Amino acid sequence: GRALDGAGVASWIRHAARLVSADAERLTRLDAAIGDGDHGLNLDRGLTAAVEAVEALPGGTPPGKVLIAAGRAIVSKTGGASGPLYGTALRRAGKALGTADTADAAALGDALAAALEGVRELGQAAEGDKTMVDALLPAVAGYEAALADGADLAACARAAADGAARGAEATVPLQARKGRASYLGPRSTGHMDPGASSTALVLRALADVTAE
Ligand code: ADP
Ligand code: MG
Ligand code: MG
Repeated sequence: GRALDGAGVASWIRHAARLVSADAERLTRLDAAIGDGDHGLNLDRGLTAAVEAVEALPGGTPPGKVLIAAGRAIVSKTGGASGPLYGTALRRAGKALGTADTADAAALGDALAAALEGVRELGQAAEGDKTMVDALLPAVAGYEAALADGADLAACARAAADGAARGAEATVPLQARKGRASYLGPRSTGHMDPGASSTALVLRALADVTAE
């Protein structure tokens, strides 16, 4: 489609929850290697709460308000560092969309950029610190490049998902400089960052629902 309404954003959240739930064990294994082994569980719980919050909203709720409700639920239900980071990302994205009835490709690009900005502000991670920023940054860059090329919403979302997946892969050789994984120092290399990997799933979910 060319734009997302509130129901479309709710589908995104539901599909993200499905993808994370299906991959929760893999995410938890990644986190067991370089953290405390709870990332899959944390995000599965948070997104389940987000789906419940979104489904409780009245019909016709604008996309920005749907994202804010999802972000609040994630903050309140997700343990660990990732809860406030994901919650901030969704709330900032929602705020960027305001109260418009639909989000077109340009508006969604602004929302993703706002999400990245929120995560950077809160977590203070730079590119290459082996965090979710390393997936979100190339996602936003891919989205914006596609948009500048005149791509529609679905193609922009696909570019974002591809950027995030490549960014997550590229965290494997990196040494963590933020979060629990940084405690391992050089031993944090050789594993994909769990938060970057889950970020790639959330953007894959956006590409899937916009392609429908
Ligand atoms: P915790 O580390 O508290 O157990 P999770 O396991 O749920 O939390 O999430 C870990 C993920 O959070 C990491 O893989 C990383 O992507 C992300 N993360 C941690 N600290 C930061 C930070 N300062 N900035 C951005 N992302 C971070
Ligand atoms: Mg953890
Ligand atoms: Mg933890």
